[in-house]
Amino acid sequence: MKYLFSVLVLLVSLSLKAESVLSVNEIEPGIYVHWGVQEFSDTKNHGAIANIGFIIGQRCVAVIDSGGNPEQGKALKNAIENVTSKPICYVINTHVHPDHIYGNSAFKDTGAKFVGHEKLARAMSARGDYYLQKAPELLGIKLSAQDIIPPDITVSNHLDLDLGRRKLKLTAHPPAHTDNDLSVYDQQTDTLWLADLLFIEHLPSIDGSLKGWLAEMDKLESKTFKTVIPGHGTRVTNWPKAMQPQKEYLNSLLLETRTAIKNGVFLEDAVKSIGLSFKDRWKLFDEFNRKNVTKAYAEMEWED
Ligand SMILES: [Zn+2]
Repeated sequence: MKYLFSVLVLLVSLSLKAESVLSVNEIEPGIYVHWGVQEFSDTKNHGAIANIGFIIGQRCVAVIDSGGNPEQGKALKNAIENVTSKPICYVINTHVHPDHIYGNSAFKDTGAKFVGHEKLARAMSARGDYYLQKAPELLGIKLSAQDIIPPDITVSNHLDLDLGRRKLKLTAHPPAHTDNDLSVYDQQTDTLWLADLLFIEHLPSIDGSLKGWLAEMDKLESKTFKTVIPGHGTRVTNWPKAMQPQKEYLNSLLLETRTAIKNGVFLEDAVKSIGLSFKDRWKLFDEFNRKNVTKAYAEMEWED
């Protein structure tokens, strides 16, 4: 009897594992978001940390970011199938970072077209080998070249995607968080999926251009949106107020770095002081601030 019970538990847990379904919230009609955890990617969370999700139109579904590993991609696909029987027509990758694109392979056989910034494919091939090599050590997962899927459709400026009586307006941004940031605007609900151009609570990380990012924020600040979805952190309904902490941090990074360079401070000393006044205001400060200062230094060293 005891043996039979153990077998039963094993079978149930195996079937649960096979049917892993990602938790999603419908935050606006037809817009589903899985809110990621505020953690550094590691071998415990396997890189599944970003906000990812999907939007459903009359005709079909668009995935926005596929997840931090193939398993999370599958769980997202299962979540979509739980909600609708409509086909997935697009998988939009908002930028090259692993926590947003490593679920791509789960959607390979769906017939969906992969969509990304015109510079996404280049970034994927520049980093692909390194990413694949480091995945076991940093994320505790094994990946192959098949898991990194470049876009079928690229966006150089703007692109409209029609999901059937639901138009998504995609914008390819100049270098900011990365050099391949793509945002998605849903006209129907006045929702902007800004991905990693906006960090809430989680310290912003710079991998593109500090000055470029500040310039993009200035442009976005003059617009109004009912809802904004950040790449990390909670839903925003008070735009542009919710962006102010990020703006303050990045602005201060720019000014402090400029002053340090002017005063001939070496980078190894600068990383110990720049940005420190923001330490208690952000999660994952220690994980990202030094890297941000290093990036800012490299960008501004040759300023006039
Ligand atoms: Zn990112």
